Amino acid sequence: MVHQQCLVLIKPDGLIKSLTGDILTALSQTKLKIVGSKIVLMKREFAEAHYSELKQNLLRKFGEEKGKAVFENVIQYITGEFHTNRVMALVYSGEDAIKKIRDVAGSTNPEEADPTSIRGKYGRIHSKTNVFENVIHASDSEENAKKEIQLWFAPDELAEVMYPTEKKKIEVEKDSWK
Ligand code: ADP
Repeated sequence: MVHQQCLVLIKPDGLIKSLTGDILTALSQTKLKIVGSKIVLMKREFAEAHYSELKQNLLRKFGEEKGKAVFENVIQYITGEFHTNRVMALVYSGEDAIKKIRDVAGSTNPEEADPTSIRGKYGRIHSKTNVFENVIHASDSEENAKKEIQLWFAPDELAEVMYPTEKKKIEVEKDSWK
């Protein structure tokens, strides 16, 4: 048993189909703790940073031309071209969090996923793009969880900080209430 954090995204199809409540209920079976949550407006550059490893995997799997096309479709999907450009990001924390969440999530391909899993229940393969619209993302390893949590959340947005932090003075222009 090892203490882990895991990034979960409720993808645009999950939000547009009003599945947020059902997905959170399914994930609560894991008895893990939610230590972060927010809605994020998806931008292409950010989506590409999140899926930087996926691009290489798809090029390897499908070859240059088809791999690029599949990646482009996945980016369009996650940036909301087909549904909404919002994604809900959550961080779950607890013993063996990654395996527990991925078990409840189900396989990447919704047609191969256990029919009682989140992806098995609510996912589909888009008939035009062939993208697996699988309603959630979950980190698949400790290494990726760390990378993804640090990409999506700042330490002060989390109720439990698991990775090393440092104090830095950063000057940024930010919107504030008038
Ligand atoms: P997971 O989301 O299960 O960790 P990957 O990181 O491999 O899986 O893929 C990221 C996302 O890209 C998937 O969740 C799915 O939406 C899409 N995807 C991956 N591989 C394919 C594929 N072969 N065909 C269609 N869509 C895919």
